Amino acid sequence: MDSILHPVDDRPGLRRLGHFIDGAIVPGTSGRTAEVFNPATGERVATVALASVGDVDSAVAAARTALPQWAATTPIRRSRILFRFRDLLERNIDRLAARITEEHGKVLSDAKGELVRGLEVVEYVTGIPGLLKGEVSEDAGTGIDTYSIRQPVGICAGISPFNFPAMVPMWMFPVALACGNTFVMKPSERDPSLCLELAALLKEAGLPDGVFNVVNGGKEAVDALLDHPDVAAVSFVGSTPIAQYVYARGTASGKRVQALGGAKNHMVVMPDANVDQAVDALMGAAYGSAGERCMAISVAVAVGDAVGDRLVAELARRITTLKVAPGTDPAAEMGPLITREHRDKVRGYIDSGIEDGADLVVDGRVLAVPGHERGFFLGATLFDRVNPKMRIYKEEIFGPVLAVVRVANFEEALRLVNEHEFGNGTAVFTRDGRVGRAFANRVQAGMIGINVPIPVPVAYHSFGGWKRSLFGDHHVHGPEGIRFYTRLKAVTTRWPDDERVTSQFVMPTLS
Ligand code: NAD
Repeated sequence: MDSILHPVDDRPGLRRLGHFIDGAIVPGTSGRTAEVFNPATGERVATVALASVGDVDSAVAAARTALPQWAATTPIRRSRILFRFRDLLERNIDRLAARITEEHGKVLSDAKGELVRGLEVVEYVTGIPGLLKGEVSEDAGTGIDTYSIRQPVGICAGISPFNFPAMVPMWMFPVALACGNTFVMKPSERDPSLCLELAALLKEAGLPDGVFNVVNGGKEAVDALLDHPDVAAVSFVGSTPIAQYVYARGTASGKRVQALGGAKNHMVVMPDANVDQAVDALMGAAYGSAGERCMAISVAVAVGDAVGDRLVAELARRITTLKVAPGTDPAAEMGPLITREHRDKVRGYIDSGIEDGADLVVDGRVLAVPGHERGFFLGATLFDRVNPKMRIYKEEIFGPVLAVVRVANFEEALRLVNEHEFGNGTAVFTRDGRVGRAFANRVQAGMIGINVPIPVPVAYHSFGGWKRSLFGDHHVHGPEGIRFYTRLKAVTTRWPDDERVTSQFVMPTLS
């Protein structure tokens, strides 16, 4: 498989990544490339081609040619290919996880975790014959039956962020392919190898050429997909400004678009909560994957000063033992950030928190990882007494920075969560079922955890936020994903006994 991915040179730093179009790697025509770094060492590991409009046209043309036959392939046959793909994912999981860690920086066990989450979506859609079953009404009128079916929308495109180079694409393409669509994937240019690896495994699983294509690149490739008249649907996951842009431009050219954006997830800790459990949960949810998760907890809302004092003291103590190291170190709990620029941006947020008057309890800027001075590391950072006017409260930082906000009671906590512009996920820690129920019922967010810090729905439910965390009508994967990637058709049938037809000039009623 390596020859598919590395047609030019596989020496470290010289790996060249192209596009995957019509079943083969091609170098592309733009002549433009971007560099891909190992965040733990700061060294370049690859260069990736940036697609031109012509490259995108080629990928869409391959998807268009492959569409009629793939859409006509029976769901059970499509399912069998996905079964084989699922097995190949499992067999290759160590190699794929190592590639994620190399380009993204997250620790190996976490890289495997995201692959398993993606694999679960594949498992869900292997049941596609059952999932596509329609509805039937016998005798909707005298001698008339009505049934509804779901059919593929056509050529679909996926645009994904850097933080889950395998899982987020797998929220999209397995569902689209299972439903009978063909697909063009545009991964993040910062960790592009994974989608090429997945394309190679799909081919090995027996997916016909042209059904799944990968174009690498940035804005030019995205715009070309958004404007392309043959692309029927676009799934986007990334930051809110780009999500809004993709939604506006894609829908303006008549496409259906689901665009998932950024987040600022709050975890409310009630006075009756088990604080030790809350601290355990916060350590993983705030600092896992260096805070580069759209479901990371970046705000802890302490209800009452007693809880606030205990949380802050215990978190500060725990941070001192957090093992920050390259993701390949088996003891590592947190790796580096994705790029030097992003690390510096997160440092800038720490500076702004201090300027705005928050209490800096633990300063991650002082961390050094011996032997990895050129890596993009930043230590876990903790602020106390953050207030809603501060930038570190309002904006998504996307790094290992946790803000503690203190409030007096549940109503104040709820108001805080509901007034934030983002509404991706949120959690409450409490022992009181009535509080948990009231929180789930009244809070304005798409995914809610009760004593669960990162409530990512399983593959057979659907994932998505509210407010400025999602533009569009459908969440991803699960039943919402099936709806997004299919169009509904209702068929009304009558098989009259004789051939005479009488014209009707009034609105027909069926009874
Ligand atoms: P990003 O918005 O910078 O990039 C996402 C994708 O958009 C990439 O493929 C990129 O090439 C493309 N892109 C970037 N700038 C563009 C432009 N000007 N025009 C057109 N396309 C452009 O996001 P990122 O930094 O890769 O990822 C982190 C963000 O993704 C965070 O905000 C995070 O919250 C969000 N995210 C959200 C979810 C979710 O489910 N809501 C999941 C994962 C990540």
